[in-house]
Amino acid sequence: MKVSVPADRNQIQNPDQKQSESMDLLTSTQSIIKDAVQKLGFTDEMYELLKEPLRMITVRIPVRMDNGSIKIFTGYRSQHNDAVGPTKGGVRFHPEVNEAEVKALSIWMSLKCGITNLPYGGGKGGIICDPRKMSFGELERLSRGYVRAISQIVGPTKDIPAPDVYTNSQIMAWMMDEYSRIREFDSPGFITGKPVVLGGSQGRETATARGVTICIEEAVKKKGIKLQGARIIVQGFGNAGSFLAKFMHDSGAQVIGISDAHGALYDPEGLDIEYLLDRRDSFGTVTNLFSDIITNQELLEKECDILVPAAISNQITAQNAEHIKASIVVEAANGPTTLEATKILDRRGVLLVPDILASAGGVTVSYFEWVQNNQGYYWSEEEVTTKLRKVMVDSFDDIYQMSQKHQVDMRLAAYMVGIRKHAEASHYRGWV
Ligand code: GLU
Repeated sequence: MKVSVPADRNQIQNPDQKQSESMDLLTSTQSIIKDAVQKLGFTDEMYELLKEPLRMITVRIPVRMDNGSIKIFTGYRSQHNDAVGPTKGGVRFHPEVNEAEVKALSIWMSLKCGITNLPYGGGKGGIICDPRKMSFGELERLSRGYVRAISQIVGPTKDIPAPDVYTNSQIMAWMMDEYSRIREFDSPGFITGKPVVLGGSQGRETATARGVTICIEEAVKKKGIKLQGARIIVQGFGNAGSFLAKFMHDSGAQVIGISDAHGALYDPEGLDIEYLLDRRDSFGTVTNLFSDIITNQELLEKECDILVPAAISNQITAQNAEHIKASIVVEAANGPTTLEATKILDRRGVLLVPDILASAGGVTVSYFEWVQNNQGYYWSEEEVTTKLRKVMVDSFDDIYQMSQKHQVDMRLAAYMVGIRKHAEASHYRGWV
């Protein structure tokens, strides 16, 4: 008897299906992990182990709100694989957090840590909430409640959280304080991205943008372009995008386009980045001050040498990938290019530096912070930046070599480099 499976259900749940732009994050991640594990010559059992996190907990967090009522929040912590060492990754506070996304993001953290050769597996956490609508006091009680709820499975040698979407150094400070109270000793190594006075690292705030900058420097060398005078478009003017625009401007490149959620500015003669940074509000909005603006989608298709999507996901798709003029695309955002668009860019000879490499500067400096906490000895910003440069350059080279050797695009090469260490460690431990 034939059993019919609804087409859309089949498409969403089966990673073996033809890659589709409508795939959710977890399914598309699993689909590339499958390719990577096969290309590296590991068994199907290895894919079965690595396609899902080893551990995922859901917690319910009661929080006393300012109006006296009690609201119950739902949170998650996912630990993908701890064969290499403790798991590591941020905690996001967002209304759209969901279990599948947190799982996928924990796999991405394993990939980032594998690429940068850090002694960690990947972890990720999230709480379904809207921090923009909560008071300082409510956020503090939620942050502390989350740490109490997950305290059994986290710790400096188990799983080390960090900032992510809508969480910051203040939230890390409350979480560290709560954990230290539970354990009854000061535990700065429990969490990274802390304020510098509480054991945070110099250079952590700008780490993601520094990592992207180093990737751009390496990519232009491969393409034979000079960074001095190169024309750059940065989509997004948040933490990564704004620091990046500044670093690019400082290194003599010409930033000809920027954007925020409101719209985009484009000037082929170059924008006044200092002025824009000065006028930007705390949410990263600046284009509302200008009348002559274009849309984010129009900006992506403008003439330039380097395009950096540093905003949200699914920006470069099968619809616009043919019209991208840049010869280098560096993904500072998470998932800005769909899998179909990746193939189109690759066929057109565009050098794409994938998100799991380009955005790995953050977790790398988090690792430096954890090392400094464990040693109780703190480094200068210069020392942090020099060490970050070495990690990023080596990671870029490994992935570039892998893509050349196996004749695969940079994204699949990044997955291959990223997953290899976790697969080998799992094998040595006798798990598969
Ligand atoms: N949330 C950042 C990321 O996704 C940083 C994680 C960390 O520092 O552990 O890479």
